[in-house]
Amino acid sequence: MSDCLFCKIVSGEVPATIVREGERVVAFRDINPQAPTHVLVIPRDHHPTVAELAAADPALLAEVVGEAHQVARDEGVDGTGYRLVFNTGSQAGQTVFHVHAHVLGGRGLNWPPG
Ligand code: 5GP
Repeated sequence: MSDCLFCKIVSGEVPATIVREGERVVAFRDINPQAPTHVLVIPRDHHPTVAELAAADPALLAEVVGEAHQVARDEGVDGTGYRLVFNTGSQAGQTVFHVHAHVLGGRGLNWPPG
């Protein structure tokens, strides 16, 4: 989608600090990190929300989740624990409507979230 920020990161039009790249997924550091590790994992293809991705391509959703776990391993936070978040819809705090998994770790995380 031409007006989608994360599609522009996929195409290289908008710069990002990419930590992992696969044929169908990309992982890059969040520009406003909320934890020592804060990486976003996205499919290259545009799907607005995780619900839409699950319906359209469940195998790709599984790849995004698997890649998120690999990011946690690479960052060294899988042992202590990390949080995987898909904000879904504006009331849940989704601001970019290209599905993304937040991988958050490296500090204690509160529950429930705000
Ligand atoms: P959401 O609120 O949709 O769940 O998460 C969107 C995330 O994208 C936010 O954590 C925000 O900091 C991040 N973000 C917004 N613009 C950019 C950008 O231009 N580059 C990067 N790397 N992250 C961004």
